[in-house]
Amino acid sequence: MKRTDDRSKDGAHAQRTCVACRAVVDRSALVRLVEGPEGAVAIDARGSAGGRGAWVHPSRECIRTAAKRHAAERSLKVPTREVDADALIAQARDSFARRATGLLSTAFRARSMAVGADVVDHAVSEGRAALLVVARDAGDTTRSRAETLASTGVSLRAFGSRAELGALFGRGEVAIAAVLEPRVGAELVVTIDRFAGLEG
Ligand SMILES: [Zn+2]
Repeated sequence: MKRTDDRSKDGAHAQRTCVACRAVVDRSALVRLVEGPEGAVAIDARGSAGGRGAWVHPSRECIRTAAKRHAAERSLKVPTREVDADALIAQARDSFARRATGLLSTAFRARSMAVGADVVDHAVSEGRAALLVVARDAGDTTRSRAETLASTGVSLRAFGSRAELGALFGRGEVAIAAVLEPRVGAELVVTIDRFAGLEG
């Protein structure tokens, strides 16, 4: 029997089918769609909203296909309606941005962030950096420095602006930071890549 309920019960590695491309994958690779306010199909950002859920790849292509074919409504067993693919893509992007921001902020409070060029250099030289995060508006010097540091085998991702990273880490502006906790670093890589993959 095909499973349609999708919360807990069956562990973190349960398999789900993307309603658009029909690929069966680990559900962590998909985002959950639910019947949102006023009956519109919406992204379940936390993956924990009650009721029936449908799953889709967090890609522009699969979200557009799902909207066009009304695949989510069919899976959710709700009436077919106009689905705004752009709105869903924006919701998914927001949820990944919030998730990434939350991870960075939690890591900072747990003292597992190196913030600023000198501290990051030091962390990399000691082999403690799991992920380098560079502001998207960082200058050329910072970017090339980050690429040099990344060439030692540390992951590197661009996320947020200098002002946004500054606000997260209680400073005016921050152009570069490093995540020191490998598990958090790995989760941030996935989250930032999904966020970036949904960019227009
Ligand atoms: Zn898909």
